[in-house]
Order: sequence, then C-alpha cells, then structure tokens
Amino acid sequence: MPENQYTFDNPVDRYPAISPDEEQVPEPGLESDLSPRADLGEDSYVGTGRLTGRKAIVTGGDSGIGAAAAIAFAREGADVAIVYLPEEEEDAQRVAGLIRDAGRTAVTIPGDLKERAFSDEIVKRTLDELGGIDILVNNAGKQIAAESLTDIPDDQFDHTMKTNVYAMFWLTRAALPHLPAGATIINTTSIQAYQPGEQLVDYATTKAAINAFTKALAQQLAPKGIRVNAVAPGPIWTPLQVSKGQPAEAIPEFGQQTPLGRPGQPAELAPAYVFLASPESSYVIGETLSVTGGMPTP
Ligand code: NAD
Ligand code: MG
Repeated sequence: MPENQYTFDNPVDRYPAISPDEEQVPEPGLESDLSPRADLGEDSYVGTGRLTGRKAIVTGGDSGIGAAAAIAFAREGADVAIVYLPEEEEDAQRVAGLIRDAGRTAVTIPGDLKERAFSDEIVKRTLDELGGIDILVNNAGKQIAAESLTDIPDDQFDHTMKTNVYAMFWLTRAALPHLPAGATIINTTSIQAYQPGEQLVDYATTKAAINAFTKALAQQLAPKGIRVNAVAPGPIWTPLQVSKGQPAEAIPEFGQQTPLGRPGQPAELAPAYVFLASPESSYVIGETLSVTGGMPTP
C-alpha cells in the first residue's frame, strides 16, 4: 500500500493482488461486503489545498469511487455533501466522519435519485447547509449483469437508465442556475462506454450516454465558465461489483484482464476527480479521463 498518492513505486504491485471469493450480496452493496476491503484513501490521501473553500456534491459519495473522491475533496479543502441510498447510512456516516476529520463540513443526503424531486432536495439542502455549489459529481450508478437480453426485466432497464442517466440530467439541471463561473461538473462514465461487455448491455448503454451528455453539455456551458468533464474507470474494487454488477463466478478474477493485471482501488481514482474539479484543469473541457489500468480507450 502506498504511503500517500505521491509514493513512487511500481503500479503493477502498488496494491496487493486480490483473489476474492465468489460472492454476491443484495444491492446496494456496502463497503463491509468487500473482502478484502477496498482502499478509499482513508489512510493515505494527502491534500495540498487544491480545492480550498469549494463546495461539492458527490452522488454515491458513501462508498467506492465516490467516497474516495469525497474524502480527497475534503482533504483538499472542500466542504462536501454526499448523496446515497438510505440503506447505506453506515457507509455514509463513516465518510462524513472522515470529511469532518479533515476540518470540513459534511452534509449527508439519503434518498433515491430515481425520483426527480430528490434532485431538487439535494440542491436545496446543499445551498442551505454549504451556502453554494461549485463542484457537482454525478457518480451514483446501477449495474446489474445479465447473461441474456431476455433476462433484463423492464424495471431493471428502467432503474439503470433512471439512476445513471436521468438522475445526472435532473440533478445537473437543478444545480445549474446556482453554479458560478469556475464551477465544474464531473460525470462518472466507464470503460464500458468503449468496450461494452456482453452481460452489461443496459449499463454500457448508459455509460455511452454519459459520455455524449458530457461532451455536448461541455460545449454549451464553456462560454459561461462552467467546465464539464468525465472520468472513465476501468475495473475498480467497489461494492457495485459484488452486488450483482458481475456474475459471482467472475469475482475471483476481477480486474486481472487489465495490462496492470489487477483491479484498481477507489483511492487511485481520487486524483482524477481532484484534477478535473480544480482550476488547474481550466483548459480541459468535454474530456473523458480514463483510469483503466491500461485498458485502451479511444
Ligand atoms: P458503489 O456501489 O460504491 O457506488 C455506487 C453508488 O451509487 C452507491 O454507493 C449508491 O449510493 C449510489 N446509488 C445507486 N443507486 C442510487 C439511487 N437510486 N439513489 C441514490 N444513490 C444511488 O460503486 P462504484 O463502483 O464506486 O460506483 C461509482 C460509479 O463508478 C458508478 O457510476 C459506476 O457505474 C462507476 N464505475 C464503476 C466501475 C467499477 O469497476 N467499480 C467501473 C466503471 C465505472
Ligand atoms: Mg454505496
């Protein structure tokens, strides 16, 4: 394990190889469902003031990639509102504690992003409790593997679209009137947008949509000084994967197909979100930053 994100080492074995058991838990998964546990940067991410005074919303900020981003944002000086499902209160409270340990304000907003009205509530609570919004990370996601298209019921298709695409649209639209010049929007897409897996037809479709949404909106908002970008993770060790995101039999070899030969840890995604959130990326607009362990993207 690296001491911090700047530790110079060999990325091949920066983290120990993992060979988890075949396992599958109900959604949404919790961090405690992961064995071995994932690294969210709790003991390693060091901030250098890159987001001092900023106010961020991170959906899915309770666990996985969103939690790693939320922790990093706080250590870089941002106040952070995290959005998550009510069943994830335990993970959310842990991340909120880490945000507060960094000396920043944490707002916890449980609810269901599949409901349009919840996006308005997220914006209202963030404005009331943080006094503004200048970073919006649309990161919550739903992924359920299905062997055949005929195994995808209407509600799975609908919930995957609502969570991954509609919620991004609703929350971005609700936040937009409040975003000042200099604000940034970061959407979590996936390697699945480019290399869609045969068992993830619905999910991969949403991830391609997220890329198109990002690139279209980026052009629209750039003249207003609001930058829109995306991050495309490769296989990352998170609760999403063990809560039906993969078939159980795929879990033991998860991530071994990458050129690095291992899955990524959420902590390895955090610097990408910090970079895109920070003014240091001022000329980076409509970009998808791939963090895939070497899996090629266009
Ligand atoms: P995760 O399970 O830790 O995070 C997903 C989060 O989405 C959950 O914690 C939950 O809070 C939130 N969420 C889901 N449905 C919701 C709903 N209806 N209302 C409110 N919140 C809801 O897993 P993760 O892998 O960190 O996922 C984060 C993002 O990364 C997702 O968009 C996912 O598609 C994307 N991604 C993950 C991987 C990977 O390999 N883990 C790869 C590429 C992209
Ligand atoms: Mg979670």
